[in-house]
Amino acid sequence: MDMDGLQTGAGRSQVRTRVILSHMSGVSPNRPQKTFYLETFGCQMNVHDSEKVIGTLVQEGYRQVETVEQADLILYNTCSIRDKAEQKVFHRLADFKKLQAQGKKFGVLGCVAQQEGHKIFERAPHVSLVCGSASYRNLPQMLVQIEAGKRSTGLDDRQTDECFETEFTARTNPYRGYITIIEGCDKFCAYCVVPFTRGKERSRTSDSVMAEARQLVDLGYSEIQLLGQNVNSYKDPAGKYSFAELLAAVGEVPGVKRVRFTTSHPRDFGRDIVEAIDAVPTLCDHVHLPVQSGSARVLDAMQRLYTREQYLERIAWMKSAKREISITTDIIVGFPGETEADFEQTLSLLEEVGYDGVFSFKYSPRPNTPALTLEDPIPDQEKARRLEVLMAKQREIQTAQNKKYAGKIAQVMVEGRNDARGQWIGRTSQNKTLNFTARGQVALKAGTYAEVAILSSFANSLLGEMVV
Ligand code: SAM
Ligand code: SF4
Repeated sequence: MDMDGLQTGAGRSQVRTRVILSHMSGVSPNRPQKTFYLETFGCQMNVHDSEKVIGTLVQEGYRQVETVEQADLILYNTCSIRDKAEQKVFHRLADFKKLQAQGKKFGVLGCVAQQEGHKIFERAPHVSLVCGSASYRNLPQMLVQIEAGKRSTGLDDRQTDECFETEFTARTNPYRGYITIIEGCDKFCAYCVVPFTRGKERSRTSDSVMAEARQLVDLGYSEIQLLGQNVNSYKDPAGKYSFAELLAAVGEVPGVKRVRFTTSHPRDFGRDIVEAIDAVPTLCDHVHLPVQSGSARVLDAMQRLYTREQYLERIAWMKSAKREISITTDIIVGFPGETEADFEQTLSLLEEVGYDGVFSFKYSPRPNTPALTLEDPIPDQEKARRLEVLMAKQREIQTAQNKKYAGKIAQVMVEGRNDARGQWIGRTSQNKTLNFTARGQVALKAGTYAEVAILSSFANSLLGEMVV
């Protein structure tokens, strides 16, 4: 997810992935060109998984198409972090059942696939492929099976030590190259489905991460984002680099101008990460550090295994850095048993930290998770009220935070243009959206950099003019 300000969990992203295959090679010329349609739901990890799935399919002789109607194979890469994700997937599959008569095949990938498993075949018998993210590396064999008219499942790899590493990644973001450095999660927070759907924590070797970083530069990327459910829990299987050292090493690859990383877990957030940001100018001065709640009691019930004080200690490290690091977070409101006083503690934490952006979510009960058995559920209406109060408070904080940028000059990476407003869209190192105008007829390319004088600010963005 792009962390550009005040968000709620209500509008989860749904991404139709468009592929840029210019750098891909080795597609078998003799296989018939089957077509596939892929829709992606959920977080940045899912979007990047889809980039790798697309690359794998293309390598296997498939061609990506824009509509379900054009496709031989229809795939959903699903997310089950919140809401009734599984119901949505079943509805969508039911809608498309009639297309089976046209010989189309269907596959469910990702978290809902892992969570619902064989139940998907029972409720949607027209589905041929059900595959969790820990089994993606076996996709080529699975494709052969479904092409032969058989069903295929990839559900048994949650204990695997292997990562989904492929040289055939279809990069869909034209200016930011993603690298997953760690998969899965072993933390088992009481509310979260991820450890059940994405398997145990496993890291790639630093050599393979560095090789991919160099490859991205060769492809023309100057911004790299390292990904992981808990990116900073990274443990190099070769024992060569700590996370902070890997971060610094990626930042020092010739040609790299910006390195981002997400998501960091407070428990594994060491001071060495802040020191790396201070030492290596290409590391962006932005850290996303989800806190979830400001109440020690709720943090304990959530099994986050840190206290408010420990979290604030990490914030203090960032605030004492030489560079001004922007800090964003995730918050869950309405966890079972959260009292008004607990909620007030979360509001006071917002004030104390002065976040640059908050992703806030209503607690959503998830299958298999320990929180399901907790008493004292919070009614949905009350969760919604708390969410609104929290967002209003954060909007005030962000409006005040952003005012300090007016009058400064920032370097942005150009991300596009808003023709209706006659503005370019840029992103600062601190991950702020900085919309700007440029005098005269300039044509800026996405992925290039510009110096912008910041003239004014809003809660979610800054406004400026390019410096010539
Ligand atoms: N690993 C990261 C961490 O621990 O901070 C978070 C990754 S999780 C995929 C993204 C966010 O989804 C979490 O930070 C949390 O705020 C939210 N989330 C996870 N489970 C949730 C649930 N059951 N209800 C509401 N929000 C949830
Ligand atoms: Fe979920 Fe907790 Fe793992 Fe984050 S650390 S992915 S919230 S279980």
